[in-house]
Amino acid sequence: MEDKKEEKNLDQELELFYEQFHIDKEILAFAKETEKELKDRFDRIDKIAEYNQMKVIQAMQKNRVSDAHFTGTTGYGYNDIGRETLEQVYASIFHTESALVRPQITCGTHALNIALFGNLRPGDELLCPVGKPYDTLEEIIGIRSSNGSLKEYGITYRQVDLLSDGSFDYQGILKAINEKTKLVEIQRSKGYQTRKTFSVEQIGELISFIRGIKKDVIIMVDNCYGEFVETIEPTDVDADLCVGSLIKNPGGGLAPIGGYIVGKECYVENAAYRLTAPGLGKEVGATLNVNPSFFQGLFLAPQVVSGALKGAILAANLYEKQGFFVIPNGTEPRYDIIQAVTLGTKEGVIAFCKGIQAAAPVDSFAVPEPGYMPGYDSDVIMAAGAFIQGASIELSADAPIKPPYAVYFQGGLTYYHAKLGILMSLQEMKKAGLLNL
Ligand SMILES: *Cc1c(COP(=O)(O)O)cnc(C)c1O
Repeated sequence: MEDKKEEKNLDQELELFYEQFHIDKEILAFAKETEKELKDRFDRIDKIAEYNQMKVIQAMQKNRVSDAHFTGTTGYGYNDIGRETLEQVYASIFHTESALVRPQITCGTHALNIALFGNLRPGDELLCPVGKPYDTLEEIIGIRSSNGSLKEYGITYRQVDLLSDGSFDYQGILKAINEKTKLVEIQRSKGYQTRKTFSVEQIGELISFIRGIKKDVIIMVDNCYGEFVETIEPTDVDADLCVGSLIKNPGGGLAPIGGYIVGKECYVENAAYRLTAPGLGKEVGATLNVNPSFFQGLFLAPQVVSGALKGAILAANLYEKQGFFVIPNGTEPRYDIIQAVTLGTKEGVIAFCKGIQAAAPVDSFAVPEPGYMPGYDSDVIMAAGAFIQGASIELSADAPIKPPYAVYFQGGLTYYHAKLGILMSLQEMKKAGLLNL
């Protein structure tokens, strides 16, 4: 009895608090109802997080992580035991021979760049069997002409699009693989597209098909946004390399910079020779003072990813009920933390992003506007009030200003923050006359 009363009071107090954020009663009631319906799904996400938390702790224990690993090196960074141990921890988590986890990797694009340049040679061919890769890879590959692209070095490119139902075009892939095909790049997450994100199991099926055609081809997965969403990773289904950014999932919001490459030792070495220099490879690269945040961020990552996933699911359900097209839809399983919401208009996209920005702990007073971004082929609007610049494991939304005017929403270091962002985006949409509430 007493408990019930207390709970009721807390509910009311919370509502009053949301009102201070100018979220009106209709939106609150709408969100509360929807959140209740999601309880079972949220429970399942908690289980996955629990599993992955065990995986991370086990890897840290196995590699005997200790406080000696939290100091950093300077200069060349020879014998950086923190860096070396962290790389072993990553290798344990991903079940790979080797890992390269470095602050010198500036972003996800850079990590992919060194994995590609490190492992491809003039005359080789790169194959993307799942359609157009992430926007920033177009210039690396030379799909859009760019100084220093793989194309300039005589590395050719072939792409097989997905079939119209979103499935793999096995016939097309069979035809595309030839004697020059050296490396196959599979992008797990949809990125800035409206296709579906692949499950690790689906990626495994594609890999085994490709191996059946050409056994020794290097298979690399762009794992951005996918880490810790499932209990297995692409390296558990025979990918040779897995690549990602530390200011996304595996950095847990604490890594201030960095990228990772895990996989077969020889391929990881090749990437390291490209990152530093032939002959130097993994031996150099001072960590300065980042080791503690790399370890601690990795430790927190499963929990952080689970909060981001719950936020994405809440957003999908709320916007779907309001009649917007969302990918994934409200009930589909999740294979990354990105939620696409097609708002259909430039005004919708801007209102959504304004709401996300206004909910941020940092720069909440800023108003996002569309503008030019290097690497993208249209104006982009980005909402982020992040502790780490551009960290998209923190609550953020971005949208290229072009049809179908879809916004890509992701992250949230805590579910509560993600929820506040979604509520405020709804409020902005309502203010712009774009909701039925
Ligand atoms: C984020 C991302 C990248 C790399 O982007 P950066 O902004 O350079 O870190 C590459 N591929 C996918 C699918 C991504 O989501």
